Parts: sequence; structure tokens; C-alpha cells
Amino acid sequence: MAILRGDLPDLGKDRDRTYRLGIMGGTFDPIHNGHLVCAECAFDALGLDMVVFMPAGSPAFKQDKRVSSGEDRYAMTLLATSDNPHFIASRFEVDRAGVTYTADTLQLLRKIYPDNVDFYFITGADAIAEVVAWRDADKVAELAHLVGATRPGYDLAHAETAIERSPYKFDVTYLEVPALAISSSYLRGRVREGKSLRYLTPDPVTGYIHKHQLYGARASRYGAGEGSFGVLAGEGRTDGQA
Ligand code: ATP
Ligand code: MG
Repeated sequence: MAILRGDLPDLGKDRDRTYRLGIMGGTFDPIHNGHLVCAECAFDALGLDMVVFMPAGSPAFKQDKRVSSGEDRYAMTLLATSDNPHFIASRFEVDRAGVTYTADTLQLLRKIYPDNVDFYFITGADAIAEVVAWRDADKVAELAHLVGATRPGYDLAHAETAIERSPYKFDVTYLEVPALAISSSYLRGRVREGKSLRYLTPDPVTGYIHKHQLYGARASRYGAGEGSFGVLAGEGRTDGQA
């Protein structure tokens, strides 16, 4: 896949067709299989050409919380998406100073891409309900289609009512994502408790978390002859008996 600018996929060359660019925004602290399955389902269901994962620079709605560095979140996103030919990790938001707002990101992307490239902003249905309260929600409505992935335990009626009550015309497609109750908070909690992350996020992400001791992870066993599978959460023995 050719690169258009920075690390953004080159779409829009053939003027006789319309392209669909999926944009998966999030804090990705850390990225997990819920995000990946969600993006894959959107790719299939909406016939997207590519999905760009954009870790937020300084997430607008997480100002009061401690968030890992943009570099760490970007690196984990890159590791998690690197083996999928239609996924790409982008530094687009990480490299922008200050708080990143989706409306600003979409406006910048609109200037970069020709008008035969449509944007599909993928988000969890829980976040969809908050879209109406986002800064410049009118611009978001104008610039992108929304894809709302349902998370287990989430009542879609809440999102639908919020969208209906909005003064702006949002184009939303709801998408059933296979039962995935995984969240980044759940993963962080597991790391803190020394539990395994296997099957919750790709192994290279687990390796990165231990190598860089994120979320209170204990030192990794890299170099102890166990390869990346030897760095599951909690495997770092403190009694010296590796
Ligand atoms: P946290 O637990 O810290 O809130 P998170 O798992 O919600 O993290 P975010 O980076 O906040 O991860 O999420 C990015 C986007 O992915 C959001 O739109 C969110 O709704 C969506 N998302 C997160 N987890 C899932 C999941 N398991 N299935 C579908 N969508 C998800
Ligand atoms: Mg969240």
C-alpha cells in the first residue's frame, strides 16, 4: 500500500470510484482485541478500503486521568495492526500538540484527501451517545459517517435517542460486534494484578507492556530464552527462580 502523506494510506487515485476510509480513534491505552475485532467488522460490513488507527494525542475526554505517553500508545497500536494488510497505525493525532478533537482531525483529513474519499469514523456505541456533546459536533456530522459498534451490555436505545435528539444530522450505522466486553481498563487492571493478557491483546503488545513496564507490570523476562510468549503478565518471578 502506498503512503499518501506521513503514514496515511494513499486513497482516491481512481477518480471514477468512491473510496471508504475507516478511522478508528481512541486512547488505545493499551489497544486490545475489542478494538481490532471492531475495526475488522466495520471493514467487512461497510466495504472499507482501509482502516487507520489513530491513538489520540492528548485525549479530549481523559484530561483528568493519567494516560501513557503517545509514543507508547502509538508503538502498541503499530505492533497490534502490523500484520493486517488493511489496517494502518497513524501518528496523525499523536504528533499534534495539545488536546485532539475529532472534528479538527476530520477537517485536516478532509484537506488531505480528495472528495471521492469518504470517512467512516468507527467508535463504540457507548461513545456514540456522547458524540452529540462533542466539540464541533456539527462538523463531525458533516464530515464523516459514524459507525457505532455495540458493546455487550450496552443498550442501543440510549445511543439512538441521543442521535435523534441532536440538532445535527448524523449518518450512523450500528454494527453488531461479537461479544467482546474487553476494555483497556480491564487490561490495565489485569497487568496490575499480575494476570495474563493472552487472547485479550496480541502477544507483541503484551511484550511491549512488560518490556516498558507499563501499568505497573513487573520486569520482562526478555533474554531469559522464552521469547515473546514468556512475557505474559505476572510471569516475572520475584523469587529468582525463572
Ligand atoms: P478504557 O477502558 O480506558 O475506557 P477502551 O477499551 O474503551 O478504554 P478506548 O481507547 O477508550 O478503549 O476506545 C477507543 C474506541 O474503541 C472507543 O470508541 C470505544 O468505544 C471503542 N471500544 C473499546 N473497546 C471496545 C470493544 N470491546 N468493542 C467495541 N468497541 C470498543
Ligand atoms: Mg473507553
